[in-house]
Amino acid sequence: MKNVRLGARTTADIDGQVAKVLRGLGNPEPPLDLRAVRELLKLDRGYYSTTDDGLLRETLSRLKVAGRQVLLRPTILGDAIRALSLKALYFPDQKRILLDQDLPPIKHRWNEAHKVGHDLIPWHAGMMLGDTEQTLTPACHEVMEAEANYAAGQLLFLAERFQTEATSSAPSLDLVRNLGKGFGNTVTSTLWRFVEQAHGNRPMVALVSGHPHPAKRKADFDIANPCRYCVESPQFRERFGHITEIDLFGITVGYAGAQRGRSLGTAEVILKDRNGGRHVFVFESFFNRHEALTLGYWVRPHPPGIV
Ligand SMILES: [Zn+2]
Repeated sequence: MKNVRLGARTTADIDGQVAKVLRGLGNPEPPLDLRAVRELLKLDRGYYSTTDDGLLRETLSRLKVAGRQVLLRPTILGDAIRALSLKALYFPDQKRILLDQDLPPIKHRWNEAHKVGHDLIPWHAGMMLGDTEQTLTPACHEVMEAEANYAAGQLLFLAERFQTEATSSAPSLDLVRNLGKGFGNTVTSTLWRFVEQAHGNRPMVALVSGHPHPAKRKADFDIANPCRYCVESPQFRERFGHITEIDLFGITVGYAGAQRGRSLGTAEVILKDRNGGRHVFVFESFFNRHEALTLGYWVRPHPPGIV
């Protein structure tokens, strides 16, 4: 599944809202403290557990998930959460964010920032919004969810601050990991942002996939759909967007070892642009015990006449 891009006016509007928050916090150093964001915006945060719904006695009769109205009759909140597999909720009248306590804590940060995004974006005002695993990923194509995910990224990576730090050294997965630590965010969300925002004019692509080595693939691995995400920089999309996710995954298969952790290897490969021009890219992959993360970046044109 490839990433989405929002229009320039939308992103400028959201950038303005995020800048206001960061100014209100005195342009803080990373990592961003979400508690301070909640205090500034007068937001309240709570947790619920799908196994203990003391909090969820309340009923609700209107809720939007991925842009659609899903509940028409009053329903107990706990039932709705279970039936719809909701991971987070936002109640505009109470300015209250509710997060699924049963998710790993590392995911709370992104989910909370996504909800803060809904609160910040003026045209989301007044809507009671429920989020699922799918709407909380930057690959969600539904417009309001893509907007909230964009706002979450701008907040957690402190707007242009990330770009400044990301472009100060040569691209590599080590750099992505260090940026992730510095900003307090997951390696996957950092890699995503690295490719989308830190590109300058350099074509870059990232994959989040199963283990490339055939001996290490899980039972549910689908060779026809090997990547959970494929993130392209604008330049990559323009010049190399014709290359399929299957072909990109195939490159990683060509060099990846069968290691279970850390680096799976790196290789220089040649990719053809839309006009048939040849270009050298470096690809490198890393396995986080759960998924393989791959970064591919343009290095130089391949001299014509050399095969
Ligand atoms: Zn949402």
